[in-house]
Amino acid sequence: MTPPISLETLPPLRESLTEHGLLARKSFGQHFLLDLNITRKIARLAGPLEGQTVIEVGPGPGGLTRALLEAGARVIAIEKDPRFLPLLQDLAEAADGALTLVEGDALRVDEAALAGGPAHVVSNLPYNVGTPLLIHWLTGSWRPLSMSLMFQKEVADRIAAAPGSDAYGRLAVISQAVCRAQVVMDLPARAFTPPPKVASAVVRLDPLPEPPAPALVSALERITAAAFGQRRKMLRSSLKTLGGAGLCEAGGISPDVRAETVDIAGFLALAGALADQPA
Ligand code: SAM
Repeated sequence: MTPPISLETLPPLRESLTEHGLLARKSFGQHFLLDLNITRKIARLAGPLEGQTVIEVGPGPGGLTRALLEAGARVIAIEKDPRFLPLLQDLAEAADGALTLVEGDALRVDEAALAGGPAHVVSNLPYNVGTPLLIHWLTGSWRPLSMSLMFQKEVADRIAAAPGSDAYGRLAVISQAVCRAQVVMDLPARAFTPPPKVASAVVRLDPLPEPPAPALVSALERITAAAFGQRRKMLRSSLKTLGGAGLCEAGGISPDVRAETVDIAGFLALAGALADQPA
């Protein structure tokens, strides 16, 4: 049996990619972080992770995975592109039991069963599935302990946006109704290999001490879809199919304002009024 390799003796990420003949594929949203100083900083911002379980979506060549392992986390890494599994297997051996590899689609896994207990999510997300995954973790039955996620800068700004700003919309309301959301790191496109067309940013999301109940969150999803679907209209009109002015009055919100001026508490009040409506 081969003795476990220590993480320091692993070859640089670029060498691992060359050794395994791996090139990035656009269809999988592959833009790699090959500078361990950057991935270590992301792991620090996501921490403290010593002794914690982390689910990582899309480890790719494993740069962020290495940093998470170095920080003392137990990592469960879900990768859809099977070409990366042999390379990641080298890392799993070096990690001596701290890394579990799962080949599959992160949109289809059962996180509770995989993690077997509370877990954080840390990921340089593939851009094409980043927003659906975030909504799934915010609104689904399995809730992460925290999320530290790389998005396109524009999406990161929409998650952390304040009422009244152009970026404020559905993503801000749902994210901030459930979590405290902060942009904690900006990264230029050149930090990635190959570079994407736009800049990126890491958002850290920490669940609020008393997050709204699942029924309220699903009412919030309906309200925000309607309100921001027609964001230039007054609520009495954009929320017409859900109760219009009557619903606004029941929630204590003026029907004559536009969605972009209503804060998170206001949207939760509207969601509460919707949830209380007789079926
Ligand atoms: N974490 C690596 C890094 O930072 O260098 C790679 C990040 S790259 C932006 C996104 C990774 O997610 C790729 O490895 C890609 O193959 C993988 N991926 C894409 N769609 C996925 C999905 N639905 N489920 C799991 N992994 C996925």
